[in-house]
Amino acid sequence: MLNLYELTAEQLADLIVGWGEPRFRAKQVWKWLYDRRAADFAQMTDLPKSLRSRLETETQLGALTVAAEQSSGDGTVKRLYQLHDGQFIEAVLMPYDDDRRTACISTQAGCAMGCVFCATGQMGFARNLTPTEIFEQAVRFARDLEAEGERLSNVVLMGMGEPFHNYEASLAATRRLMSDLGIGARHITISTVGLVPQIRQFADEGLQVKLAVSLHAATDGERSSLLPVNKRWPIHDLLDACRYYVEKSGRRITFEWAAIHGENDTPEQALALGKLLKGLLCHVNIIPLNPTGGYALGPSGSDRIERFIGILEQYGIPATVRVRRGIDIDAGCGQLKANVLRRGSAAPVSDPPA
Ligand code: SAH
Ligand code: SF4
Repeated sequence: MLNLYELTAEQLADLIVGWGEPRFRAKQVWKWLYDRRAADFAQMTDLPKSLRSRLETETQLGALTVAAEQSSGDGTVKRLYQLHDGQFIEAVLMPYDDDRRTACISTQAGCAMGCVFCATGQMGFARNLTPTEIFEQAVRFARDLEAEGERLSNVVLMGMGEPFHNYEASLAATRRLMSDLGIGARHITISTVGLVPQIRQFADEGLQVKLAVSLHAATDGERSSLLPVNKRWPIHDLLDACRYYVEKSGRRITFEWAAIHGENDTPEQALALGKLLKGLLCHVNIIPLNPTGGYALGPSGSDRIERFIGILEQYGIPATVRVRRGIDIDAGCGQLKANVLRRGSAAPVSDPPA
C-alpha cells in the first residue's frame, strides 16, 4: 500500500487531484500529516467522508511496524521497528528536563563499521535505510508527542548505522525534517564515526545542521583498536576534515568519547586529546560506556572521568558528561535489537501501522 510519508507535497497533490478532488484538499491532508501530525485518518475531520475512506483503503500512514517497545523511569521510550523486508531498526525518544524532546533515529539496518564496543557494530551490516524509513522514525515520535500536547524539538542521527555511509538518504531525510516537520537545522545533529570525504562533503552543503564525530581515542594505535575505520582515515586526516567543517560552517564541532574503564580514560589519552584539539572550536561529550554482550570492558567511574576532564580543562577544551538515558531499557545503540534477538522473540505491542 502507498505510504503517504513517501510523497512530496506535489506528489500528494497529483494523487488527490487525480482522484477528482480539488487541489486544496491535498493541502488539508498535508497539514494533517505534518502540522497536526494525525495518527489515523479518522482524525482528519475536515475532509469529506468519501476522501477519508479512499485514503484509508488505498494508502497508509507509515510503513514501520512496532515490534517491541520499552519505557524507562526517566521517560525515555525505545522502539524496535520491523521494516517491510523483515529487518529491524531502533529509535529512541528522550525527554529532557527543559522543554526539549529529542528523537534518536537510525540510518541503516546494522552497520558495516565494526566498532568493537558497539552492539550495532557487533551485528554487522544488513542494508541502507531509504530517506522515508529514516524520516518516518521522527514522524512517528512527533505524532505520539502531539497526542500528548507536546512537540518534537530535536532529532539526532545517532541510532543504528553510520549516516555518512548512507550519505544521500541521510541528507535527504535531514532536509525533510527541516522542510516538512519544521525542525530547525540547529536542532538536528548528525553523528559520524569519521568518514573523511563525507565530512568534507557535508561541510560544503552549507547547512547549519550540527556535526558530532565519534573520536573515542586520541592516538592512532588506540583508536584503530576500537574503531577499525581509523586504519582507513587516521586521526590526522580526520582532524583536518573537522577543521574544514568548523571553518566552513563557523559551528562548533562535538567530539564523542565513550569512556571505557582502563582503556581510553587514562591521563595519557587525556593529554594526547588536549594537544590534538587545542585551539579548535569544539566540545567533548563523554558518555560512560554502555556494556554490550560482545565487548568485555565496562564504563569508567566518575573519579576517572573527573580526572580526564580536569586535564582537558588545562588545554581550554570544554567537556561534559552526558547523562546516560534509559540505561534500564537497553537504550544504547543497537542494544534492544540484540536483546530481543537473544530472548528469541519480539515483545508484541498493539501498534500496527495505521
Ligand atoms: N555511526 C555513528 C552514529 C551512531 S552511534 C557514529 O558512530 O557516530 C552513536 C554514538 O554512540 C557514537 O558516538 C558511538 O560511538 C556511541 N556508542 C556506540 N556504542 C556505544 C556503547 N556501547 N556505549 C557508549 N557509546 C556507544
Ligand atoms: Fe556503526 Fe557508529 Fe556503532 Fe561504529 S559506533 S559500529 S559507526 S553505529
